[in-house]
Amino acid sequence: MSLAEFSLIERIAARTRARADVVLGIGDDAALLQPGAGEQLVVTADTLNSGVHFPAETPAYDIGWKTLAVNLSDLASMGARPSWCVLALSLPAADPAWVDAFADGFFALADAHDIVLIGGDTTRGPLSLSVTAMGQVAAGSALRRDGAQVGDDVWVSGTLGDAAVALRAWQGGTLDVRTAAEDAQVEALRLRLARPTPRIELGRALQGVAHAAVDISDGLLADLGHICERSAVGARLDPDRLPVSAAARARVGLAHAREAALRGGDDYELCFTAAAAQRGAIEAVAQRLALPLTRIGEVVKGQGVATGSDTPGPQGYEHFTEL
Ligand code: ADP
Ligand code: MG
Repeated sequence: MSLAEFSLIERIAARTRARADVVLGIGDDAALLQPGAGEQLVVTADTLNSGVHFPAETPAYDIGWKTLAVNLSDLASMGARPSWCVLALSLPAADPAWVDAFADGFFALADAHDIVLIGGDTTRGPLSLSVTAMGQVAAGSALRRDGAQVGDDVWVSGTLGDAAVALRAWQGGTLDVRTAAEDAQVEALRLRLARPTPRIELGRALQGVAHAAVDISDGLLADLGHICERSAVGARLDPDRLPVSAAARARVGLAHAREAALRGGDDYELCFTAAAAQRGAIEAVAQRLALPLTRIGEVVKGQGVATGSDTPGPQGYEHFTEL
């Protein structure tokens, strides 16, 4: 480990907060953690590579935010309470200002969800950020992909397709990921791509209510497809009910916005299934969290996701070429 590397680690370590269940944090060869009695550990890892998972010109703050957000989103979809994380950084240069801005974004989100950084690794190489996040759930109460039942409603949180519309706008040269846009709708779209909101509170509220859940990282069709596969069921969606934002509609029109909602990735909303008897409870959760929850279809016998209109084409982000 070089001196430069050491001082970068120091800058990051200085930002971490204390948590009673961290017996030993950054500074030793490994951390020591004390999970709560009767809790199960929920563990997930996600890597973001520059130029692949975000435009290379993305500001360091937004990279820091998103690096943690995509991992928190996985904890959210399991219904977990965030606890601890480790951060593996591959950096092309030892740039303290870049690391400080990255940490500003990372810890803004970490502190908001009481997840603490307890270790990591720092190396030189192409820009790549990798987080392993850990959370806890009461034993047996995690939300999983394999619990959907025929007759369930299919729900999604928030609006879908915004991040994909923003990405297309950036590719088309009409959205700048480097700075805030003057136009409020363009800025709303940019923030949906740059700083996704992990739905931690929603995931927790859905314990005992939802039968299955997944976070939408690769697109609704692809991710709901995962629930169907794991639960050995099919799903039927009503595209007219897909929640799309006013900003996406204004930008690309309703038809393209719905296409983005079906196939676009990177929204980090939750898709879940629940018995019809839970509709009242779910509407109450939506009220309490001030987060729209929309019923978009139902779980049926069979396999795959049908959208009513056309036969679903290639699914997932990489095939989303309609805009
Ligand atoms: P080792 O060589 O024993 O793996 P390192 O020199 O890589 O130790 O790291 C020293 C300490 O700093 C360890 O506790 C490690 O977890 C922590 N650390 C290194 N990089 C990071 C990082 N990017 N974020 C948080 N902690 C880090
Ligand atoms: Mg190391």
